[in-house]
Amino acid sequence: MISGIFDSHCHYDDSAFDEDRYELLDRLLVGEGHPVDKMVHAATDERSSLFGIETAKRYENYYTSIGFHPENTAEVGEGYMETLERLYEQAAAVHKLVAVGEIGLDYHYEGYDREKQIRLFTDQIRFAVTKSLPVIVHCRDAVEDCMEILKKYRPEGVMHCFSGSAETAREVVELGMYIGFTGALAFKNAKKPRRACEAVPMERLLLETDCPYMAPPPYRGMRSDSSMIAETAKVMAEVKGLDVEKVIEITNSNACTLFGIKGDAEEIFY
Ligand SMILES: [Zn+2]
Repeated sequence: MISGIFDSHCHYDDSAFDEDRYELLDRLLVGEGHPVDKMVHAATDERSSLFGIETAKRYENYYTSIGFHPENTAEVGEGYMETLERLYEQAAAVHKLVAVGEIGLDYHYEGYDREKQIRLFTDQIRFAVTKSLPVIVHCRDAVEDCMEILKKYRPEGVMHCFSGSAETAREVVELGMYIGFTGALAFKNAKKPRRACEAVPMERLLLETDCPYMAPPPYRGMRSDSSMIAETAKVMAEVKGLDVEKVIEITNSNACTLFGIKGDAEEIFY
């Protein structure tokens, strides 16, 4: 049984967890032999940010971000920076705020207001830099614009659910950022993500679920949860030629470094 998992990106506020949210989190985070050491909630709007803050009060090893996901761009009103500032104050009071996210660009669907997405992304990056917080970046079918903005503002952070090329992965790493892989790394024909994973130094890799989505095999298509990271870690271990335990340990330590969490783990050498 694998333990010590750091899930760097999860959405337990999703309605897929309405039936058993807290039983599941209890089992994952505090139950006997619990598989998950720490997790970071990826906020998607104001309500989701508040969920993260409330849940962070409930679980010692649950951390949160605040921010507006590009998919919610249409619903974000003009006063969004004041809202973000207010959320920041609420979250900072709980001492569990570790990032601004998930923010980014999503050009997958036609009809999204790209200009507003860029404005929201840029404003939130600048906010994060001012507050010395890393960003959690969502980038879908928008690599060029995303990279241009990241190169301009140079935030600390992670490119989550990475599905790009090895070349883009190297560029992201050169910017000093981390790369997060979901269960998609373990999909049967995932040659491209595996090549990208190969290209990234171990000290820049994170593991994540993006739950309830992206469940790795043998759970593919099911609701995912943080314990399933064990399967993704097995594939990462294969790609990197390491033991799965080592992969769990290093990605945990990487996430603690990025999110400024002082872990009680021993110093890791690799
Ligand atoms: Zn997400």
